[in-house]
Amino acid sequence: MPRHFDAIIIGTGQAGPALAARLAAGGMAVAIIERHEFGGTCVNTGCIPTKTLVASAYAAHVARRGPEYGFAVNGDVRVDMKRVKERKDEISGRSNKGVEEWLRGLKNCTVIQGHARFQTSHTVVVNDDVLQAEKIFINVGGRASVPAMPGIQDVPFLTNSSMMDVDFLPEHLVIIGGSYIGLEFGQMYRRFGSEVTIVEMGPRLIGREDEDISDAVRQILEVEGIQTKLNAKCISLAKRNSGIAVGIGCDEGPPEVVGTHVLLAVGRIPNTNDLGLDRAGIATDQRGYIVVDDQLQTNVSGIWALGDCNGRGAFTHTAYNDYEVVADNLLGGDHRRVSDRIQAYALYTDPPLGRCGMTDVEIRKSGRAALAAKHPMSRVGRAVEKGETQGFIKISVDAETKHILGAAILGTGGDEVVHVLLDVMYAKAPYTVIQRAMHIHPTIAEFLPTVLSKLEPFA
Ligand SMILES: Cc1cc2nc3c(=O)[nH]c(=O)nc-3n(C[C@H](O)[C@H](O)[C@H](O)COP(=O)(O)OP(=O)(O)OC[C@H]3O[C@@H](n4cnc5c(N)ncnc54)[C@H](O)[C@@H]3O)c2cc1C
Repeated sequence: MPRHFDAIIIGTGQAGPALAARLAAGGMAVAIIERHEFGGTCVNTGCIPTKTLVASAYAAHVARRGPEYGFAVNGDVRVDMKRVKERKDEISGRSNKGVEEWLRGLKNCTVIQGHARFQTSHTVVVNDDVLQAEKIFINVGGRASVPAMPGIQDVPFLTNSSMMDVDFLPEHLVIIGGSYIGLEFGQMYRRFGSEVTIVEMGPRLIGREDEDISDAVRQILEVEGIQTKLNAKCISLAKRNSGIAVGIGCDEGPPEVVGTHVLLAVGRIPNTNDLGLDRAGIATDQRGYIVVDDQLQTNVSGIWALGDCNGRGAFTHTAYNDYEVVADNLLGGDHRRVSDRIQAYALYTDPPLGRCGMTDVEIRKSGRAALAAKHPMSRVGRAVEKGETQGFIKISVDAETKHILGAAILGTGGDEVVHVLLDVMYAKAPYTVIQRAMHIHPTIAEFLPTVLSKLEPFA
């Protein structure tokens, strides 16, 4: 006999739990299903553990710079990887437990562990349980992509998930993929003490960013001794006595890099192949992302897709915003749309990159009249005082409306400071509001008016 609920939520990532709480609080009978770890990617193998590891790596880095700041560390700074992992497990584990306890404690909410599959459009099977609901919310997230590159089946490799079990120092970590995940792991392992090589197929790191950002980030990494191999058009893997060879066939450097360990960081794919979507008649695109409209409804009435699996975002904040859009529209009578949000994210290298709005390339493509300004962090007082002067601030505005079009803050505190600009963008206010505000000294944010005073026609 099928069990009936008002709503079924598949997945406990960044949208599902909050949605379960809101629907259940509204008096709906909710079932939420998780096949693996409560909290999904961000909590267990993504943001939280990686940023915890980044913090350990940063501490080691600052310790090595002790003499610059006027203190000495007795002997070499050595990282205890077992303790680093323990700290990460503790912090990540607390969140994982917190999500599970929260869900299990919710009135009107039934937590079911197992793999969910659609049987029909409004029937889902988990283990031997058949569940039915008028409303179904899919929040199944994604996983590391493992492309069929030559030799992949012959060698051991790591992904962001298996990296979470590493409690030793790889002698030479070769990272395939020079985007956000690859760069964060690369810098952290270099700081832990590994030799690190990043192999990237494209002509530059973080290829979606403007060229000046890619170049500056590459320089920052190379100064720390990370090797980068770009234009690696034909990557292959092979066993060697001394480790694993990554064939790069790139324009620069030798044709292969031999490392002791290989991390694949070449993108993500949605967890939609084993959901029985065809039985429910739910449409996906060519890459397996569930097709949704601006309010996150699928092509099947009463079924929504939220988070990474809908291809409309790839971050925790986009998944959580998906929850807000769906919940406010369903329960609050609102008309929120995904297209109303402004692109924003951060890269957690040190210094971090905080980004919002359009890139220079996108602004140029839009053809609008724009003004832009750029300011080096080496001329920002707070950065100088901290001894963290790498990077720059750049901001672009619309020449007519004076609205901010986009910004990049590559520098200490960039992930936080960028929100000053982002919130003014959401307020649809002109940049001059920031110029007239009194900011706190000494901060990075106090320099935004100075940067804005240097606006010139977009080159
Ligand atoms: C290394 C790394 C670092 C990251 N760092 C950041 C960062 O700093 N900031 C940021 O914003 N984002 C970051 N992200 C991205 C972020 O983790 C994801 O965007 C976010 O977790 C997506 O949430 P979600 O709710 O869509 O899915 P997920 O968090 O992936 O959750 C999906 C859940 O669904 C479950 N599930 C899947 N299929 C089924 C099924 N058939 N039945 C039952 N359950 C199922 C899964 O087990 C999982 O628990 C990072 C990602 C990685 C990999």
